[in-house]
Amino acid sequence: MTGWVIVAGLGPGAEDLVTPEVSTVLALATDVVGYIPYVARIAPRTGLTLHPSDNRVELDRAHAALEMAAAGRRVVVVSSGDPGVFGMASALFEALETAPQHQGLEIRILPGITAMLAAAARAGAPLGHDFCAINLSDNLKPFAEVERRLRHAARGGFAMAFYNPRSKSRPLQFARVLEILREECEPGRLITFARAVSTPEEVLTTVALSDAMPEMADMRTVVLVGNEATRRVGRWVYTPRSVPA
Ligand code: SAH
Repeated sequence: MTGWVIVAGLGPGAEDLVTPEVSTVLALATDVVGYIPYVARIAPRTGLTLHPSDNRVELDRAHAALEMAAAGRRVVVVSSGDPGVFGMASALFEALETAPQHQGLEIRILPGITAMLAAAARAGAPLGHDFCAINLSDNLKPFAEVERRLRHAARGGFAMAFYNPRSKSRPLQFARVLEILREECEPGRLITFARAVSTPEEVLTTVALSDAMPEMADMRTVVLVGNEATRRVGRWVYTPRSVPA
């Protein structure tokens, strides 16, 4: 048997938002590797071994996937959303850099619908002009760097999507993020808190920056900050396609 590793995005939660390509490889897999809540989304079946692992062990997980593929297994590494957006795709290549013996393996990355795009579609079109995505977690970069990028993005006129906005282990940093936004943006700037998008627990709330509170975000929330021109139309939020000269 020829082994392979496929890193696949499972989308934001709903079954309908898993691409047919990803469903096909999941049906061919002998092993599924990933963070516990993501592996929990895979239906068990005979011939399939599930390997759930904890958060923050992405590199171990990637090495394990490469080892299994080298032994002839068909391994799918799962991420939520898109695997290239703060997901397992980069972790796999980091592992591959230090494991040259595996560089000849068949490796593929299959895209998925990332949280910010699922959330933006629910809200209307808040990311309809130039935007950037920022991971607010300081697990893998200093918080000073988060602050620096945030300020530059705000000054650059970008709409923004924040991943990993707030967790129990870092309750204060998102308050600091709101403070920086208040220094850089006008009080009426629209912010959408999109929680558990495409699941039964989905909740979307849009407020002006002046009314935004840290408690509005948690680890299941992606936060969308509009640009200066972002506005409401009926129950929607959208960003115009153009910027006046
Ligand atoms: N690779 C994933 C992101 C992983 S980081 C993707 O492309 O979506 C985890 C963060 O993603 C969460 O803290 C949250 O900010 C966001 N997220 C993931 N699924 C979400 C969902 N269904 N609704 C809202 N935010 C979500």
